[in-house]
Amino acid sequence: MTDATTQRIALVTGGSRGIGRAICLTLARNGVTVVACARNADALKELADEAQRREFAGRIHGRVLDVSDREAIDPFVENVATEFTRIDILVNNAGITRDGLLMNMDDEQFEAVLTTNLRAAFWLTRTVSRLMVRQRYGRIINIGSVSGVMGNAGQANYAASKAGLIGLSKTLAKELGRRKITCNVVAPGFISTDMTQVLPEKLREGVKELIPLARFGEPDEVAEVVAFLASDAASYITGQVILVDGGLHT
Ligand code: NAP
Repeated sequence: MTDATTQRIALVTGGSRGIGRAICLTLARNGVTVVACARNADALKELADEAQRREFAGRIHGRVLDVSDREAIDPFVENVATEFTRIDILVNNAGITRDGLLMNMDDEQFEAVLTTNLRAAFWLTRTVSRLMVRQRYGRIINIGSVSGVMGNAGQANYAASKAGLIGLSKTLAKELGRRKITCNVVAPGFISTDMTQVLPEKLREGVKELIPLARFGEPDEVAEVVAFLASDAASYITGQVILVDGGLHT
């Protein structure tokens, strides 16, 4: 059982860079103990070192996990649950792109994106939700994308994976609501991270013309919404898709 004094534990996938990193730092600043996972151990160490230098020293713990490695998921969750005693918050943030027009997209391109962005979220959520049911408390936040809501030329694989997360999340909200577990999607628009840095300058400028707020978002602007949904204050919000896109999809 939980009460207001329970020390919340969060598991954030893809926590080492970009939006995931901002989510880890924001949650830690809000008093949550965070386990950040990614493939690159050095980037995770750098994140934990940054937390060490700030007022929330000791609240971020980096652990290597490739979320596309199905066999690694269950032992990983078991280890985290044993070490930290519980998992209250799961943020499925790890994501990749392999853009290309559908006509030219090969199976590997499609499968890689589906596996990291959608299957991994299913595997992790299935295992973590069993713990949450026993705790009778949980916050699951899946990081979708405006592409999963609107579609986007050149991103059939990515848009399908992110739209899949919406169906997964709405279903989970219905299955787990009675156990005090909420599940929502935060769908960013164009955010300044390594993922968008690789887009050609001309395309980035063209996109800005379509965004009412006329700029890319910052990772912190997504992280604040995730932190709210992860908090006790968001207790009556579930099954929702919250766009953080500067008004792109209006
Ligand atoms: P990013 O800067 O490329 O960072 C991706 C993060 O995911 C890194 O920490 C990366 O670490 C991790 N990651 C990738 N594959 C992984 C795997 N197989 N296992 C574990 N970790 C993995 O991306 P971002 O822009 O912050 O995006 C974060 C999320 O937001 C993604 O789901 C993305 O689809 C979504 N999103 C982003 C934007 C945007 O404009 N940036 C817009 C909409 C949605 P390692 O490489 O070390 O594993």
